Amino acid sequence: MQKVSRLINSFTPEHYTLSLTLNREARTFLGTVTIKGESHVDHLLRLHAKDLSIETALIDGREATWTHYENDELELKLEDMPAGMHVVVIGFSGVITDGMHGLYPCYFEHDGHKKELLATQFESHHAREVFPCVDEPEAKATFDLSLTTERSVSVLGNMPIDWQREENGQLVTKFQTTPRMSSYLLAWVIGDLHKKTGKTKSGVEVNIWATPAQNPESLDFALNIASRTIDFFDDYFGIPYPLPKSDHVALPDFSSGAMENWGLITYREIALLADPKTTSISSKRYVAMVIAHELSHQWFGNLVTMKWWNNLWLNESFANLMEYIAVDALHPEWDIWLDYSSSESIMALRRDALDGVQAVETEVNHPDEISTLFDGAIVYAKGGRLLRMLSSYIGHDAFRSGLQSYFKKFAYQSTEGDDLWNEFSRASGKDVASFMNTWISQPGYPVVHVEENGFRQEQFFVGAHDRSNRFWPIPLESSEAATPTLMDTKLLTATIQPGERLNVGDSAHFITHYPSDHLSVLIGQLQDGSLEAIDRLQLLHEQTMLARGGIISSAELIPLIKAYHGETIESVWDIIALALGELKKFVETDKEAEASLRELSRNIAEHQYVRLGWKQKANEPETDTKLRATILGMTLYGENKDAINTARELYQDGVISLDPELRALVIGSNVRHFETPELIDSLIELYRTTPSSDLKTDICAGLTSTRNIETIYKLLLIMKDSSIVRSQDVFRWFVYLIRGRESRVATWQWMKDNWDWIERTYAGDKSFDDFPRYAASGLLTREQLEEYRAFFLPMVNIPALKRVIQLGIAEIEARVDLIERDSNVVHESLLNV
Ligand SMILES: [Zn+2]
Repeated sequence: MQKVSRLINSFTPEHYTLSLTLNREARTFLGTVTIKGESHVDHLLRLHAKDLSIETALIDGREATWTHYENDELELKLEDMPAGMHVVVIGFSGVITDGMHGLYPCYFEHDGHKKELLATQFESHHAREVFPCVDEPEAKATFDLSLTTERSVSVLGNMPIDWQREENGQLVTKFQTTPRMSSYLLAWVIGDLHKKTGKTKSGVEVNIWATPAQNPESLDFALNIASRTIDFFDDYFGIPYPLPKSDHVALPDFSSGAMENWGLITYREIALLADPKTTSISSKRYVAMVIAHELSHQWFGNLVTMKWWNNLWLNESFANLMEYIAVDALHPEWDIWLDYSSSESIMALRRDALDGVQAVETEVNHPDEISTLFDGAIVYAKGGRLLRMLSSYIGHDAFRSGLQSYFKKFAYQSTEGDDLWNEFSRASGKDVASFMNTWISQPGYPVVHVEENGFRQEQFFVGAHDRSNRFWPIPLESSEAATPTLMDTKLLTATIQPGERLNVGDSAHFITHYPSDHLSVLIGQLQDGSLEAIDRLQLLHEQTMLARGGIISSAELIPLIKAYHGETIESVWDIIALALGELKKFVETDKEAEASLRELSRNIAEHQYVRLGWKQKANEPETDTKLRATILGMTLYGENKDAINTARELYQDGVISLDPELRALVIGSNVRHFETPELIDSLIELYRTTPSSDLKTDICAGLTSTRNIETIYKLLLIMKDSSIVRSQDVFRWFVYLIRGRESRVATWQWMKDNWDWIERTYAGDKSFDDFPRYAASGLLTREQLEEYRAFFLPMVNIPALKRVIQLGIAEIEARVDLIERDSNVVHESLLNV
């Protein structure tokens, strides 16, 4: 396997002076970069540069020769140059392309005019596409940036503007010098933008920016959350926000959700904007979570940075945990830890159960592998869950004080995991490194079997797998005080109490298998109201995992789901809906069983359907408003006639007037039951023209519920038409369609037929591996498994796809095996409802 060489070992930059002249219309740029730094070898130094034309190169004022090498390396040579401090000046030019990395245009329409922004995306290794640099996180330096652009635009950078003037009909903007930082955090955005401004308690200026196509009210929610989140972190981390300002920009075209560039955070519009009239509660919460995530990076990641990408979790696992800690402090009434259990925990438990999954800390051998590290379920969700487990294990006070001393000690520097463990060990008096390194470096997680004489742990798998001898130090978090707190052996002898529960509070990364008589006691507790919401949620979800793993039969989920009919809490209902969803794959080919499943869904939701109705009541709690959508979803799946007709009536008043909480459901129900060509065309047209990404998302969800194959082909066709579907949104259409029963086969064929286009559009981007990943989430027959193998195995040596293809095969295979194993028993159980 090809290794990445680390350029910082041959040249350590200290300061960059970067001047760029951007020609938006010609799609080109011209630049000069002056790099002061220390070379560690004689006669030559190496920098990263990709797709740039180098025009001149001087070292200490003398002309150097240059050569391009593989892995985007540019080698400058100068005879008789000794190691030591040098000044390198390079003149270069490059082109602006649509790829959503490096420097790229964003497109929008305002007042009938087509307009563009220019923006950057440098993480993980795209700064080299815009200027020669040592493009490695550890190579921290200060930056002086000047941009020459067209006039009458807003020009934003990491730092406040130092000065701005017009020269030869163009606008020159010079920013203040940045603190020491990594190249992947440098950023700028240029174009027609408007903003709302506020201040934090400590006087930091906070600005929320968007294109003029977005109304000013949609910036208010983000402004409030961003300002208060900085106040919270100032206090929690014990170090004030490190820069004079904090800009947040909503970009019309953006590849991931958001990017934490220091002082200039960029977002997808849906991740920052919240229109008070058209944004649902869940979308607002999502906005708050993303803002808190990115702001936590201003400390975790930006102020203190991982040395290399194998420690990406130091950035992302922490940001994943901190977003919940911050939002919980800002909005305790949201009960955000329940959402944590019903989203992050589930993502982590599902993906981490596949054989071949990456560990949280993973080696990187090739630059293109860096992008595959960003596996949301592992480096974000599982890593965050492990840190939460640690916080619970050493205590929240020790956790926070360890973090504070970590920031003090390592500000403006780079670290590895052990640097952090040392601070936690000092704060808690526990050996954190030996506890955490087992969890961080091993893939997978354990299931603890509750047996007659104690507990037994083994690695939990879904699907085929090699034998595993792994085990973990498990904080048991038992409901019984007499049970030991830590299980660090495979077997632990203990006296089991009736009704004893493990992992209370769902903070540790394992699941529990209770024997059936023990489970009956727990179901009794569930029904007599003695289990907390988080326990009820966790119990049901862990049973669905055990069924996936073949430890229990999927048929056992049916009586368990019924035991939840009296449930009142919205997050628990999400899991009930999810458990029912687990059963859908078993009934696709059996009409009678499917009808029973629909009936079960309808019946179990009925009580809440009657209580909540369709209309929001004055002053109803937000949890009821959110719950209504889940309940109506289950009722519509249950084909309740009254619900289908009400959805039809509501639609008569137009999509714009629909309750944003129910919009996707109402559109979907009308598309499914009352589809006409006019309905489809009008929805596509509204999708094309609305500036609201919330509305676009709901229309996409609604349209893809179609059962009509003609319409499915039409939707597959517009996915490649960038005048309708932005390339950043194609994956959303793809995932809904590949998971739909009627659309799955056509969508799979579409992906194979259009692979060249997918490669052209997404290769080099973090979202490239979404296609094999999402395809694997939808396919479910043995034939499709073979097709998946035949199509993707020839690509298994592409570093950006390797892991996701292997996991994709494991995932489909597990699903196919499960369907073959449990279909009959599930049918029987359903028909005896
Ligand atoms: Zn992040």
